[in-house]
Amino acid sequence: MPEVMSSEVVVIGGGVIGAAVAYYLCREGAEVMIVEEDDLASGASGACDGFVSLQTKTPGPHLRLAMGGAQFFHELAEDLEVDIEYRGCGGLLLATTQEQMKELRARAKTLKAEGLEVEVLTASDLKELLPEVGKEVKGGSYCPQDAQVNPISLTLGLARKAQEMGATILRGCKVENIVVTNNRVREIHTTEGNIHSRRVVCAAGVGSNQIGKMIIVDVPVLPQRGQILVTESSEPVLKTLVAGAEYLGTKANIEGLLPADAEAAKLGLGFTAEQTAAGNLLLGSTREFVGFDDQTTPEAMNAIARNALRYLPWVKDLDVIRSFAGLRPCSPDGLPILGTIKGIRGFYLATGHSGDGICLAPITGKLISELVLDGETSLDIAPFSLYRFK
Ligand SMILES: Cc1cc2nc3c(=O)[nH]c(=O)nc-3n(C[C@H](O)[C@H](O)[C@H](O)COP(=O)(O)OP(=O)(O)OC[C@H]3O[C@@H](n4cnc5c(N)ncnc54)[C@H](O)[C@@H]3O)c2cc1C
Repeated sequence: MPEVMSSEVVVIGGGVIGAAVAYYLCREGAEVMIVEEDDLASGASGACDGFVSLQTKTPGPHLRLAMGGAQFFHELAEDLEVDIEYRGCGGLLLATTQEQMKELRARAKTLKAEGLEVEVLTASDLKELLPEVGKEVKGGSYCPQDAQVNPISLTLGLARKAQEMGATILRGCKVENIVVTNNRVREIHTTEGNIHSRRVVCAAGVGSNQIGKMIIVDVPVLPQRGQILVTESSEPVLKTLVAGAEYLGTKANIEGLLPADAEAAKLGLGFTAEQTAAGNLLLGSTREFVGFDDQTTPEAMNAIARNALRYLPWVKDLDVIRSFAGLRPCSPDGLPILGTIKGIRGFYLATGHSGDGICLAPITGKLISELVLDGETSLDIAPFSLYRFK
C-alpha cells in the first residue's frame, strides 16, 4: 500500500451505511475509498435483525424517510450480485393488553393518515398470519408494506458492487485523525497511511463520536446493546415479521408501550421474531446502555426466551443454537444524524441510525451521495441535522 493515497471521497466505516453511501456515490461515477478498521459488516450491521419495518417508524420525517427508501430494496435485489434475501413479507405488532391495543389502534390511524397501509387485527384475525399465539395476545396491527432482508448480505452486496464500480476498500485500517485547514477537509490519517481527500463521510456507527472529536464536533452517538437468540432451522413457520408492542415502546420511547415488568424494563426487552431464508428464527431483543460491551448475558438470554414463549408458545419445540449481541449507533432521539457540519467544508455525517440502519441504509446512501456530489438532496434531510440537538 502506498504511504500517501488519495480519493475524491473517503467513507469511514464498512457497515451497511458506509457500503450504501459508497454504492450510490459509485453509481454517480465518484472515486470512493471505504476505510474500515476491522472488516465489512463487523459492527452492528453484522449483528442484527433484518426488519425493513415501516410501521415502527416515528410518524413524520422518520416515517417519510423510511417510506421513501422502501422502493430501493426492490432495485437492489435486482442490481446486487449477492442475494440479499429481500422478502415483502409484511409485519405484525402484537398487543398483550387492551391498553396496548388502544395505543396501536390510535397509531394505525396516524400512520394511515401519512399514507402507510396498516390494519388493526383481532386475536382471531391473527390465525391467518401466525400458526398460534399466546393466550395473552389480544390482537395487533399489520403492515403489508413491511419487509425483510439479510443485513449481512445487503452490506456485502453493496460493498462488492461499489468495488466492482471502482471503489477501493481498505480493511483493517483505522482512521486516527482528520486534517482540516482553512475550514476544509484535506487529509485523513489512518493506521495504514495518509489519504488526500477533500470529502469525508462519517459512517462509523458507534465510532462516530470518536471521529467527531477529530474535528472538534460532538456527534452524540452512544452504543446501545441488543441481544438475539438464534434457533435451529425449521420448515417455514413465520410468514411475516413479528414484534411485541413493548418492542415499539422501548425503541421509540412510547410511555404507554413500555414493559411493565421491572427486569424487562431494565433490559429494554421487546419481543421480535423473524425467520431467515435458511429457516432459523431470530428471537430478540434488548436495548441496554452498557458502554462498548458487546457480550451476550445469561439474564438477557433467559428473558428473551421467556418473552418469546408469551407470544409464540410453539417456539419451545425449537432448540436455541446460538446467540449474539450488537451495538446500535444510538442518537439521543433514535433518529439518524445526516448532513454537513457548520464551518467545515467536505465533512458529512451518515450515522446515529439506532435500531433502523438496515431499513434506512439505501435511502441514506442515496441522499448522502446527492449531498456530497450536488450539495442538495431530493428529500429534505433538515429534520436529521446534527443541530437539532443544540
Ligand atoms: C440486535 C440488533 C437488532 C437490530 N435490528 C435491526 C432491524 O431489524 N432493522 C434495522 O433497520 N436495523 C436494525 N438494527 C440496527 C442496525 O443494525 C444499525 O442501525 C446499523 O447496522 C448501523 O449501521 P452502520 O453502518 O451505521 O454501523 P456499523 O455496522 O456498526 O458500521 C460502522 C463501521 O465503522 C467502523 N469504524 C468505526 N470507527 C472507525 C474508525 N475510526 N476507522 C475505520 N473504521 C471505523 C466499524 O468497525 C464498523 O464496521 C439492529 C441492531 C441490533 C444491535
